Amino acid sequence: MDAQHAILLESAFQEEARTFDAADPLASLRAEFLRPMTAEGQPILHFAGHSLGLQPRQVRESVLEVLDDWAQLGVEGHFAARRPWLSYHELLTESTARLVGALPAEVVVMNTLTVNVHLMMVSFYRPTAKRKRILIESGAFPSDRYAVASQAQFHGLDPEIAVQELVPRPGEATLRDEDILATIARDGEEIALILLGNCNYLTGQRFDMAAITRAGHAQGCVVGFDLAHGAGNLLLNLHDDGPDFAAWCNYKYLNAGPGGLGGVFVHERHLGRVDLPRFAGWWGHDKAARFQMGPQFQPIATAEAWQLSNPPILALAALRASMALFDAAGMVELTQKAAWLTDFLHRQLQTLPAGAVEVLTPTEPHRRGTMLTLRVPGRAAELVGYLQRRGAEVDLRRPDIVRIAPVPLYTSAHDVAELGVLLRAFWSEHA
Ligand SMILES: *Cc1c(COP(=O)(O)O)cnc(C)c1O
Repeated sequence: MDAQHAILLESAFQEEARTFDAADPLASLRAEFLRPMTAEGQPILHFAGHSLGLQPRQVRESVLEVLDDWAQLGVEGHFAARRPWLSYHELLTESTARLVGALPAEVVVMNTLTVNVHLMMVSFYRPTAKRKRILIESGAFPSDRYAVASQAQFHGLDPEIAVQELVPRPGEATLRDEDILATIARDGEEIALILLGNCNYLTGQRFDMAAITRAGHAQGCVVGFDLAHGAGNLLLNLHDDGPDFAAWCNYKYLNAGPGGLGGVFVHERHLGRVDLPRFAGWWGHDKAARFQMGPQFQPIATAEAWQLSNPPILALAALRASMALFDAAGMVELTQKAAWLTDFLHRQLQTLPAGAVEVLTPTEPHRRGTMLTLRVPGRAAELVGYLQRRGAEVDLRRPDIVRIAPVPLYTSAHDVAELGVLLRAFWSEHA
């Protein structure tokens, strides 16, 4: 690129960003978040919301309300707090249902993700002599892999045999949709459970949940999804798409804070079933009878039946503040903005020298979410360090993977254009 061309390119991107931001109906939400500062006192450009979302300003007040009520009311806070702790988790139900396209009875906020994946498998992974496999992606998140392997062992099975992986074709980074469906059609009779992430945490590939669910159910498989990278990122319709269950964490796209509580979806068709095995606890017991402290477990007729313990109210309070922002924004609007920002980011990457980066995430908008995954051969760590020193936070997976998410709640087109400037500067300085 000659100097003249480079100046024109920068001003065209800046102009496009200004136009987009000026018309962005969600622009005001950006001010609702706290941002780390650089050494020079500038707010950082945060592109790692797929890893840990920024802190909403209202979290502090929401958490302080609980602390103050506890200080002033003691144990009475269970009933007398401004938002009584006994039913506090219910404050999240409507918002969570809206977020994932579910009925309120189908969702609950509880525990953390891997715990919930296990609890779901206790109920929904029921291997038989003929049908014992769990189908996962070859690039599944390690915790999911450990969870399915240990569940197989728990049933006395050898994970080497019981866990089947979907593997991309040689030379390809992501799975082809038709290969996923073909595997289910071919091996479905031996598969007890299909458990896929959506999006895949590493490549950002989005799977067609409705098609996979249909294909799985046609073969008699149970179908579940790990939505750690889907909840708050994708426009989800869990009830209509029909998977049997889903689980996700709320601290990535959903800004619940480090170690924040997870969410669970159990499809309506399974609610109230008495034949499902379940690890039970008192918080899953019929609310009206809970404090009679009787010996017989009577499950609540909603997804709350899977709750074990009384939940950590401070963590729920943090999540409540963030969910209010999702309610204010709406997932339709957020995903529209995200699609534009992600395309804008992709166009920044296309200005880099040939071979500098390879985008692993599928480019079709319906096959990805907000995050783009790059392979940066030989220079990933150097690039991430360079960006960090200039106030831009992206995410490094050694040795050569960089993940970037222009999260729509708090990212502007201007932020993306600024990242583009830094990326181009890195390659012109390191040519
Ligand atoms: C982030 C993530 C996890 C993390 O699990 P925790 O139990 O919340 O620590 C698990 N699985 C996937 C797919 C993830 O993306």
